[in-house]
Amino acid sequence: MKTWENNVRKVEPYTPGEQPKVNGIIKLNTNENPYPPAPGVREVLKNYNTDTLRKYPDPAISNLCEALAEKYKVNKEQVFVGVGSDDVIAMSFLAFFNSDEPVFFPDITYSFYDVWANLYKIPFEKKALGEDMHIKKEDYYGKNGGVIFPNPNAPTGLMEDLKDVEDIIKNNQDVVVIVDEAYVDFGGKSAVSFIEKYDNLLVVQTFSKSRSMAGMRIGYALGSTKLIKYLNDVKYSFNSYTLSNLAIDAGVAAVKDDEYFKNTCESIVKTREAAKERLKDLGFTFPDSMANFIFATHRSVSAKDIFEALKKKNIYVRYFDKPLIDNYLRITVGTPQEMESLYSALSEILG
Ligand SMILES: *Cc1c(COP(=O)(O)O)cnc(C)c1O
Repeated sequence: MKTWENNVRKVEPYTPGEQPKVNGIIKLNTNENPYPPAPGVREVLKNYNTDTLRKYPDPAISNLCEALAEKYKVNKEQVFVGVGSDDVIAMSFLAFFNSDEPVFFPDITYSFYDVWANLYKIPFEKKALGEDMHIKKEDYYGKNGGVIFPNPNAPTGLMEDLKDVEDIIKNNQDVVVIVDEAYVDFGGKSAVSFIEKYDNLLVVQTFSKSRSMAGMRIGYALGSTKLIKYLNDVKYSFNSYTLSNLAIDAGVAAVKDDEYFKNTCESIVKTREAAKERLKDLGFTFPDSMANFIFATHRSVSAKDIFEALKKKNIYVRYFDKPLIDNYLRITVGTPQEMESLYSALSEILG
């Protein structure tokens, strides 16, 4: 090692799901939405006046904060917008998790949490899920430097009751609690209503899954005015112009079309519920997902073998070569047609 390397911040980065460059594959590996963004988003892009790109975007992202505030019936001072919820959560770790006590999160969860904690040198403690793969709320009541968990959780897809979510918040009023609601729009229940009652609660959501805009990179957080102010202070100390002009306008158009949003989410929920039946018939078991994916294990064939066999048939699902979950596949809910191709491929593979 060269001497200068002693001063390098060494991190083990997060590994995102594959984005294969080939055409004609069925991509069920990164929880993307199979439907296009709202028609209004296309209009924004089609009619875009490139002259506006000369100027810096609005650092406060006011138009999008207002649109989101209107949708969630909060003040715009209670909304923070970032470059995908990954950016929002990374910024939140930096802003809110500054204790010597460990931050708590589940052992099976979004695998970016420990990456951010390591990056910022934040101590953390992972809490095991229960036998049924649900979060055990009592585990989060001890002394800690903050709490974060997704609801529904990823990659299990399991939703915790709002009552249990509130119990976790109630028992952690001296730290910041972050509920990552990346998948809440697929039939889940949001904790947003609690932000009035608990000024230490941050609810994070994204345009990547339910709004079909993973490629545009928009995420947001809802919380008390005080919490959002602290988050903005960190953002303005890092990079004032996080969202492009284009992303802001496209985001506003997406939020305004609530009907399209509801319809596509409903379609995915319907396809998911049908998938549960079909996968069961094929010999899979899985937690009862409330997200846009199913975390499935097969009674006789290993997940790794199925993963590889599907890939040969140009169907990509997600496989995690990690302890506890290395016999599971995370299968994103696609269109009904894509799912039919999946079922036929699986019947061939499983004999
Ligand atoms: C997808 C995902 C995110 C991040 O999504 P962005 O594309 O960065 O908005 C955050 N949390 C969980 C649990 C996710 O699955």
